[in-house]
Amino acid sequence: MRSRTTVVTCPRCRNTMNLVIESESSGGVRRITYLYICPVCRYRITQEETSVKLNGGKIELRRRVYVSRLH
Ligand SMILES: [Zn+2]
Repeated sequence: MRSRTTVVTCPRCRNTMNLVIESESSGGVRRITYLYICPVCRYRITQEETSVKLNGGKIELRRRVYVSRLH
């Protein structure tokens, strides 16, 4: 068993933030967002955004990584 735990603290209130994976699709584009959300003040830090688009049998993948201060 492998466990990888990253503790990210909220820059506003210093509470431990939760890693949330959001997935939504609209207009043939599926977007997956990895973000940290503070359960106390709802502060959000977006980590990574991946969008998958089906373009006539071809798959277009776009990945965007956000550089953020996690400490
Ligand atoms: Zn907070």
